Amino acid sequence: MSTTTDTSALTARFRETFGSAPDGVWQAPGRVNLIGEHTDYNEGFVLPFAIDKTAKVALRVRDDSNVRLLSTFGGHGVVEADLAGLEPGSGEGWARYPLGVAWALQEQGIDIPGFDLLLDSDVPLGAGLSSSHAIECAVITALNEITGAGLGAEQLVIATQRAENVFVGAPTGIMDQSASLRGAKGHAVFLDCQDQHVELVPFDAEASGLVLLVIDTKVSHSHADGGYASRRASCELGAEVLGVRALRDVGLEALEDAAGLLDEITLKRVRHVVTENDRVLQTVEALAATGPASIGALLDASHVSMRDDFEISCPELDIAVDTARANGAIGARMTGGGFGGSAIALTPVGKEQQVRDAVVVAFSEAGFMAPDIFTVTPAAGALRLA
Ligand code: ADP
Ligand code: MG
Repeated sequence: MSTTTDTSALTARFRETFGSAPDGVWQAPGRVNLIGEHTDYNEGFVLPFAIDKTAKVALRVRDDSNVRLLSTFGGHGVVEADLAGLEPGSGEGWARYPLGVAWALQEQGIDIPGFDLLLDSDVPLGAGLSSSHAIECAVITALNEITGAGLGAEQLVIATQRAENVFVGAPTGIMDQSASLRGAKGHAVFLDCQDQHVELVPFDAEASGLVLLVIDTKVSHSHADGGYASRRASCELGAEVLGVRALRDVGLEALEDAAGLLDEITLKRVRHVVTENDRVLQTVEALAATGPASIGALLDASHVSMRDDFEISCPELDIAVDTARANGAIGARMTGGGFGGSAIALTPVGKEQQVRDAVVVAFSEAGFMAPDIFTVTPAAGALRLA
């Protein structure tokens, strides 16, 4: 099945696979983080947006506690499980995401019936666009609705985090599912990770004659997990030495004094988080006041901070960013956890092709794998399609 499957094709495929029509079809998007990297677990600010690439699920409730799952991707067969026996660590492969959210809802005392589910997603896997959260958010939105549980967005965000952290075992925060569940067309999601306060900020690049290019480097360096853990540890150490609960509570003005208290590495890590939080706030202001054309320098500064202070970039990301900038992008940065994944480049429409071509050539000359380059636009959060 192609990745542009419409609802009726998905419904037909569901009928073929499971014998009758689904009760409904739901979708949830992947996300791109515009700015605010490694600020989430420091209780700081992030500014992601839901993208126009989505996971769609057709789902029908069963009258037992069994689950049957099929994805149109990757030639997997139908996966079967029993909701009665779910516990953290159970399930394999992609089935852990739908089972994880079912488990997290059960944990909250919600009675989840068995279900048949067909997934079709065009969110690229492992590119840093949160294909796993797109699945989780589509499924949790469907289960919340068909059970009549009526959980609000904030509760769904926490349940999804428990599914990832406890059931799947991935140490993720609340940014990805907040963008996927709470995003809106033409807007970015300004999220305060301390209290889940959300404000939708207009981000309509197209109306400003700009496109947002994603450059998927297709690399994931092997030290990514260790690098993430050590950055978290440095942030915790920094907060402890500075006497705050989280680095969110350290202002720009406190950096000078911090220099005398922290070792060189910890100071660099802290400086990234503190300045990045400030850049998020400045980006929100700039978008509201003058629009996307005014945020280029903030994206650039964010990249430099991640490259030099947080030290989570890599040659592929640096070449993507530098080449995009040299060929007309007004701002560019790596996005996501780092050590691979994707960069974003805010680019005038008229320069799009030049940036694409130049990045492809630069990667080839450096001996890197060919990148995948595509545009994304801020799109609606999770919703029911049929
Ligand atoms: P990311 O969320 O950044 O894309 P993850 O490693 O968290 O990367 O999630 C990727 C995993 O999500 C894949 O290994 C796979 O298990 C699952 N996944 C994503 N999209 C699909 C799909 N269309 N079909 C089946 N599994 C998928
Ligand atoms: Mg993921």
